[in-house]
Amino acid sequence: MSRRSFLVGSTSFAAAALLANRTFGTVTGSPRLPGYPFTLGIASGDPLPDGFVLWTRLAPRPVEVGGGMPAEPVEVRWEVAEDEAMRRLVQTGTATASPSWAHSVHVEVAGLRPDRWYWYRFRVGGEASPVGRTRTLPAPDAVPERLRFAFASCQKYDTGFYTAYEHMAREDIDLVAHLGDYIYEKADAEDAVRRHGLPTSITLDDYRSRYAAYKSDPALQAMHALVPWIVTWDDHEVTNDYAGPFTKNNLVPGPARDQLLLRRAAGYQAYYEHMPLRLTARPSGPDMLLYRRLAFGRLANFHVLDTRQYRSHWLYGNGKDQPWDPAMLDPARSILGDRQRDWLYRGLSQSPCEWNVLAQQVMMTRILQSNDTYMMDKWTGFEAERRRTLDYLRTQKIRNPVVITGDIHCNWANELIEDVDRLDAPPVATEFAGTSITSGGDEDDTPPKGDRFYAANPFVKFFNGQRGYVHCEVTPQAWRTDFRTLSYVSRPGAPLHTAASYLVESGRPRLNRV
Ligand code: FE
Ligand code: CA
Repeated sequence: MSRRSFLVGSTSFAAAALLANRTFGTVTGSPRLPGYPFTLGIASGDPLPDGFVLWTRLAPRPVEVGGGMPAEPVEVRWEVAEDEAMRRLVQTGTATASPSWAHSVHVEVAGLRPDRWYWYRFRVGGEASPVGRTRTLPAPDAVPERLRFAFASCQKYDTGFYTAYEHMAREDIDLVAHLGDYIYEKADAEDAVRRHGLPTSITLDDYRSRYAAYKSDPALQAMHALVPWIVTWDDHEVTNDYAGPFTKNNLVPGPARDQLLLRRAAGYQAYYEHMPLRLTARPSGPDMLLYRRLAFGRLANFHVLDTRQYRSHWLYGNGKDQPWDPAMLDPARSILGDRQRDWLYRGLSQSPCEWNVLAQQVMMTRILQSNDTYMMDKWTGFEAERRRTLDYLRTQKIRNPVVITGDIHCNWANELIEDVDRLDAPPVATEFAGTSITSGGDEDDTPPKGDRFYAANPFVKFFNGQRGYVHCEVTPQAWRTDFRTLSYVSRPGAPLHTAASYLVESGRPRLNRV
């Protein structure tokens, strides 16, 4: 496909988006449905002090193209209550589920009281959804005593059961941060422990079916129904290791790039359709504004990043790990893109919060691997930007920066220093990289990293290769991280362990094992 025909394509895409947003013809409130419409569950997300987003998607036949829905807009009723029995309703309304957006519903509820739990449900055609629970954030000037949250990433469906979410549902937490690889785009692995049966996702319908298959998991649905989620993506929501408009080994304009942008448009749209995101995130062709900020009172500011959409190409074009090369310090290479970087730095310097959380995808700590290479798909591949960002945190005295990270399928606790050639320099931040929910499969024990690894990377304080998620408790005085692990995901029922816990004191970016 030529560049021109791609542009024509994206113009008609934008037109379709406009039409989808307009209510025209008949919107039916009593559709004829071939089955229960809430098969993909419900969700809430992106809370504010006075509201949140409520999400569902009508799909009586979830994995089928069209979801089993008639090709017409459908009116969905929503209800928000102060009690689980849904007796004290505080707000109700209707939203239109449009076929152009896979009959997804995104309701932005506002005008509620801060720092409270609410319950919600949807109704359509005589059917009611399950009741979900969600909450508003504390008022902007409040100093909450504590925030508890979990973060997760990388939930390849065919490589494991979502036992981690069953355990997470028993935690007393305020929210979940999902840091990407919510889906994986490929066909089932040959050694799959369960199967979705779908071919590699390329088109919008492919990605929609993929989300439907993933979201049919009861543990995932239950976790979404319990607390609001703050989500961002990594690469597999489109395709492995993509960088901005680039696929591997294709760094020049041409058919491969056009193909990737078409695929990106499909992947981004399906992501929006299946996540509790605000209208500001609704994609237009291959562009979608996902980076944003959410403040839990004056306790914790979540700077949610998108390190995929705007990044420069790989240094050598092939995405492979590389030995040190001074070209890594090229200041023009960016993992954030200019606009997001300006937005991040401004937001950090103006943040009124005790803790500043960089909720993002790929490892920021520069790791020298045992074969003397660096990982080019991570921040290290953009070393100038990595140093610039850490330099900004240090020189601007940004209050308590903590980086939380997904992507890497193992647990790490790192102290972040700017220039790894000066290991005596004090750290400017801490990074907790969380393991995968399932990706990588069973890991019943962690092969220890050798002395040579720790001599080269003394700022790495903890490593663990098992599946699980990360629990964090934040108070004005300290940040506590618990690495929750499972020794298997190839069958249900693994018990939960806490592999290690670390404390960071306010004002002192050091890791203390507790
Ligand atoms: Fe992953
Ligand atoms: Ca990834």
